[in-house]
Amino acid sequence: MDKFDVIVVGAGLAGLGAAYTLAEQGVEVLVLERGDYPGAKNVTGGRIYVNPVRDLFPDLWKKAPLERFIANEEVTMMAQERSITLRYSGQELREEPYQSYSILRSKFDRWMAKQAEAKGALLLSKAKVDDVIIEDGKITGVKAGGDQLNADVVICCDGALSLIPEKAGLRQPGLARDFAVGIKEIIELSPDIINERFNLEGEEGCARLFMGDVTKGKFGGGFLYTNKESISLGMVVGIKDLTEGDPAVEAPALIDELKQRPEVARLIRGGETVEYSAHVIPEGGYKAISSLYGNGILVAGDAAGLAMNIGVTVRGMEYALASGYYAAQAALKAKEVGDFSAETLSVYEKFLEESFVLKDFKNFQAAPEVLENPRLFKHYPELVGSIMKDIYSVGSTSKPRLYPTIKQYMTFGEMWAMVGDMRKVMKI
Ligand SMILES: Cc1cc2nc3c(=O)[nH]c(=O)nc-3n(C[C@H](O)[C@H](O)[C@H](O)COP(=O)(O)OP(=O)(O)OC[C@H]3O[C@@H](n4cnc5c(N)ncnc54)[C@H](O)[C@@H]3O)c2cc1C
Repeated sequence: MDKFDVIVVGAGLAGLGAAYTLAEQGVEVLVLERGDYPGAKNVTGGRIYVNPVRDLFPDLWKKAPLERFIANEEVTMMAQERSITLRYSGQELREEPYQSYSILRSKFDRWMAKQAEAKGALLLSKAKVDDVIIEDGKITGVKAGGDQLNADVVICCDGALSLIPEKAGLRQPGLARDFAVGIKEIIELSPDIINERFNLEGEEGCARLFMGDVTKGKFGGGFLYTNKESISLGMVVGIKDLTEGDPAVEAPALIDELKQRPEVARLIRGGETVEYSAHVIPEGGYKAISSLYGNGILVAGDAAGLAMNIGVTVRGMEYALASGYYAAQAALKAKEVGDFSAETLSVYEKFLEESFVLKDFKNFQAAPEVLENPRLFKHYPELVGSIMKDIYSVGSTSKPRLYPTIKQYMTFGEMWAMVGDMRKVMKI
């Protein structure tokens, strides 16, 4: 067979979302994945929010190999020698259908690939796509390992460092400011220890974010998610900040330091690191999204820049699944009319605009610029830490009143700078 209806490049969530949807409709779809198996090369933090994609894949969620539902949210602001933690646990987080789950991609992607195959998708692992075939200004297939494979539509789902859209003329080479690097360890611990240390019961899980000294004041933060029998612990740091900022910092050193912080060390004590991974995340937001379609081609997931960091969450998995789904819908429409031109495939962008995907990106388009502010990651954690230290200190002499204790930090210059920062943060 030398021609498929659709070729999907990459078996991550975007690619599998597209392949599953197409195969379900009886479309002949080939998925090419460079890893040894789907999920082998895929990294996430990982928490997936199911609500936005529940109805797009209604048959998947009941049996999906998800880890724990997230019942507690915590944000820790870290100063050099102290930290402040805000913990949120609401009844709605404990009610079914659960809003979000921790997830391990090596398990989930492998399982989802099987679901797509069961629907009729053909999946080839260890198959790296090297280039697209362009004929008369139209993408007509891909080149992989010396072979040429043709299709009416190619859906690029090859992740953050995708080269295919660039080769197809749909995006310019990436800029460092639009990307972050994520580093993650999976640390095994028994379910009993996890439940005890994180104050959880049964299938409950928790999500923790760390900001401030944890990135040495650089744009980014740390994360921790409890899985069934392990903890996912990692860091995300903006690449521009990492390479250009002062002080110079090595990303792997940051995660080592995070593990040594007392707030974290006691949570992972005795655990065994069974996986270490690093991956790039597109975080340029709305302005950095690539062209989404061309003649015979669609781009979905991280390959299109559809991941987003708004400070309190890093999200990409729902956008990957949903964009894969809508790319499949666009390919189905094109097949229906027998026209695979950019004009027909442009319906994909319309689908994304009408869905949560591009609505979210528009809502949060100011986030990358607002979060570029180093004061958020250095000054405020130290400031709040110092105030808390003074509030809770009792020395040998009489204790000053609380109001003057706080007010000494609130100089005119400080207040003025805060108003400026607040005005920017209000754009998110
Ligand atoms: C450290 C970290 C933490 C994150 N935390 C979260 C989180 O908590 N929640 C969340 O929603 N998102 C999170 N994200 C983002 C999320 O993981 C991504 O947005 C999501 O995985 C994107 O899915 P995708 O299918 O587009 O790309 P990927 O999952 O990267 O899949 C791309 C696939 O394409 C394959 N591929 C690449 N090139 C080729 C080629 N030439 N030929 C064939 N195959 C190829 C790859 O092997 C891979 O399987 C995080 C990311 C990182 C790195």
